[in-house]
Amino acid sequence: MSQIVTRFAPSPTGYLHIGGARTALFSWAYAKSKGGKMLLRIEDTDRERSTEAAVVALINGLKWLGLDWDGEPVSQFGRAGRHAEVARDLVKAGHAYYCYSSPAELDQMREEARAAGKPPRYNGYWRDRDPSEAPAGVSPVIRIKAPPTGDIVVNDHVQGKVVFKSENLDDFIILRSDGTPTYMHAVVVDDHDMGVTHIIRGDDHLTNAARQIVIYNAMGWAVPEMAHIPLIHGPDGAKLSKRHGALGVEAYRQMGYLPEAVRNYLARLGWSHGDDEIFSTDQMVEWFSLEGLNKGAARFDFVKLENINGHYIREAAPAYLYGVMLATAAEIGRQDDVDGLSGNKDTVLSALPELQPRAKTVLELIDLAQFIYASRPLSIDAAASALLTSDARSVLHEMAETLRGLNEWSVPAIDGAMRALAEAKGLKLGKLAQPLRAALTGRTVSPGIFEVMVLIGREESMARLQDQISAA
Ligand code: GLU
Repeated sequence: MSQIVTRFAPSPTGYLHIGGARTALFSWAYAKSKGGKMLLRIEDTDRERSTEAAVVALINGLKWLGLDWDGEPVSQFGRAGRHAEVARDLVKAGHAYYCYSSPAELDQMREEARAAGKPPRYNGYWRDRDPSEAPAGVSPVIRIKAPPTGDIVVNDHVQGKVVFKSENLDDFIILRSDGTPTYMHAVVVDDHDMGVTHIIRGDDHLTNAARQIVIYNAMGWAVPEMAHIPLIHGPDGAKLSKRHGALGVEAYRQMGYLPEAVRNYLARLGWSHGDDEIFSTDQMVEWFSLEGLNKGAARFDFVKLENINGHYIREAAPAYLYGVMLATAAEIGRQDDVDGLSGNKDTVLSALPELQPRAKTVLELIDLAQFIYASRPLSIDAAASALLTSDARSVLHEMAETLRGLNEWSVPAIDGAMRALAEAKGLKLGKLAQPLRAALTGRTVSPGIFEVMVLIGREESMARLQDQISAA
């Protein structure tokens, strides 16, 4: 078989939304799995909605997800001349015609169809009429001659054999009176000219596929293989709303998801390889097949995404995570964190292996790292405050005394001293560790508290302790 060519054809309307990202991922994985190419076509014919900023957002979204494409992105708008040429060729070949019907006439046709209990549609008035009858001064549209009878069959890799009745299709417009192509026509001409062999897209385009096949057939072009994937729904089965995750991929980045986790999760959303939940991108490419695409609607589940993200955070190299934490803090405008992270790189790096198992998102990781660079006196969260009772503060005082006497500031030395103190007071070690953690981190969750003390150092530890003792 000749080389597989897929494409991702987003409309630049603001961002790369999560459904589009999944379509891109599948098109990319399929091309990669077959040693083929994925092309990128920006469907920017709607000039009012397509902005340069939206194109940049799309491209950045794809790059962040780690999806690349072959060659330069193609601008659909830039190919308008070619779309018009094909439409005129179709007229010459007798497969399309100029239609001069006025808006009022079209309204009347729709009314008549409705009155006859039929779907409102164009009645083919100009289909076989001689061009000499054309009214003066009217710029015509070009309509394709849709087959009046018979079936149009979409042999879809996901949906199976889908049959559309030709009689339900009217002679739809392929070129507007201003010479611009309709979406339906532009997609076909572009996919053909770009050599696309496989179209993978959302199943909201399935009925378009029937119309597009009419154009392929009229041009005598081979119809590409098609795979229409079910859209993503919310956990309740309803259409995906913002609350459910219908957001741009940059929103996921800002919420602290790693691209490899989003990639893995999106892959699972509508595609499966046995029961595998976690797999690398290489494995996905190796395993990917159109047969693995699911027919049922996928349900977006934040909890699953979080769990997968937690997995990738645990597995990641600290140096990589450090970079992501810094970039995320900067992107969401948390300057204190940017300063703290940049000023304490080595400490953050050595703390990360302790923090990683405790975080599901990069934002949680940043929160967990804040104890390293928090400025004194620490702000103590509500749960930690509740632990700092006056009894606890007097125990803190005793701990401070003991710690001051240590010759060596190391985990074993601190651990030994604290155990001895706990024993002497007839308390469990946890009774000491809890207020200690609250005083030193302002939180009730942190890495091992003795590790924390070594990480932030003797001086800072004693100063934070003293802050809470004096606050009593
Ligand atoms: N531009 C269309 C969209 O963003 C996709 C068209 C296609 O894949 O054929 O929904």
